[in-house]
Amino acid sequence: MPVSDFDSSIKAENIGGEIYRLAEELYPICRSITGNGVRKTLNIISKHISLEIKEVATGTQVFDWTVPREWNIYDAFIKNGKGERIIDFNRHNLHVLNYSIPIHKKVTLEELKNHLYTLPDHPDWIPYRTSYYDDKWGFCLTHNQLENLEEDTYEVYIDSSHNDGYLTYGEFCLKGEIEDEILLSAHICHPSLANDNLSGIALLTFLAKLLQKIRHRYTYRILFAPGTIGAITWLAHNENIVNKIKHGLVISCVGDSGGPTYKRSRIGNADIDRAMEYVVNRFNQQAVIEDFSPYGYDERQYCSPGFNLPVGLLQRSKYGKFPQYHTSADDLSFITPENLAESLNIVKQALYILEHNETYINLNPKCEPQLGRRGLYKTIGANQGRDDRQTAMLWMLNLSDGTNTLLDIAERSGIDFSTLLEVAALLEKNLLLRKQDLLPKGSS
Ligand code: ZN
Repeated sequence: MPVSDFDSSIKAENIGGEIYRLAEELYPICRSITGNGVRKTLNIISKHISLEIKEVATGTQVFDWTVPREWNIYDAFIKNGKGERIIDFNRHNLHVLNYSIPIHKKVTLEELKNHLYTLPDHPDWIPYRTSYYDDKWGFCLTHNQLENLEEDTYEVYIDSSHNDGYLTYGEFCLKGEIEDEILLSAHICHPSLANDNLSGIALLTFLAKLLQKIRHRYTYRILFAPGTIGAITWLAHNENIVNKIKHGLVISCVGDSGGPTYKRSRIGNADIDRAMEYVVNRFNQQAVIEDFSPYGYDERQYCSPGFNLPVGLLQRSKYGKFPQYHTSADDLSFITPENLAESLNIVKQALYILEHNETYINLNPKCEPQLGRRGLYKTIGANQGRDDRQTAMLWMLNLSDGTNTLLDIAERSGIDFSTLLEVAALLEKNLLLRKQDLLPKGSS
């Protein structure tokens, strides 16, 4: 495989704009953990990549959970005494408590207030609230809207349904040269929120498109599933294949300018952890590496002790730590094409490392081979970065005793992974190195 497969496509295109446009297209849809919003979203993704869409019936037992009734919403409003829609679902889908039960009645201001959610600290923002497993009705509004409500009789109307139906998720599978898999996953259950969920969905869609165009050793599986219950459902139905997953990444909140933040898998030093740490730490000064904790996104399920998969979490700003998190301010102005493109590059660089992280054996281990005699100094001398590559060759030859991967050598030497890969190919050609194994450590 040409070593630049992942690299060349990284720089070649203005992919940030395309990722952003997909997020823009998906933004208005009212999603939840089930229902037509999820189907619509998956159908739009399907225009870009071939997605297998799975439906799992309400009531299906998935480990300790049960697939819930399907929720759909058609309209909702609060009208004042004059009949004016003062809160209107059609203006913003965050206005309805997600998974709200249907309601149609007249209420006093006092009663209404028991069903309203606001953010006093950010009086212009609408909060995002859900009630999946508790039968409630409610509205979310700006604190300013709340403060303007006068004593009146209000008509509340939520036209929603909870029926036996399905939980829907999408799966993209791309065969590689080996059966070992890399799992990438994004949650698709949030309504109009840009960074928290749309950035991840859109990024993974375009990553899938790119993977189709380049040679890759691993088989890739990309999941677009509702948070928690979606990942649990997928795991319950795919227990027989999880042993193929060698590396994995949950992607969320990747369109803002913060971070990057990488949260390690439960294993802590899995190859994905080391590859991501390597890439993220070189990305910028504000990079953050966090240890695993059993709170967050769907890495919670993948890293539950019964699976303990090597799955980490990539974000820019950490969820819950940016003020716009789970509010109407997490809109399309909070994410940018540039940040999305950067985040895609982080993921691609990590995949590039995983794809090429071989262990080599020095075929001339007794003292240094005479490089000049083989024309290797001359070859390198003609190029820029000559010293780097000479040093890289010495490191490669010295540490290639069968116990160090390229990433081990990159970490220990401080030399760029791609430079080491490049000189490894050169040394291989000159019969000074050979790959220890075609498959990485731990492969079946
Ligand atoms: Zn969220």
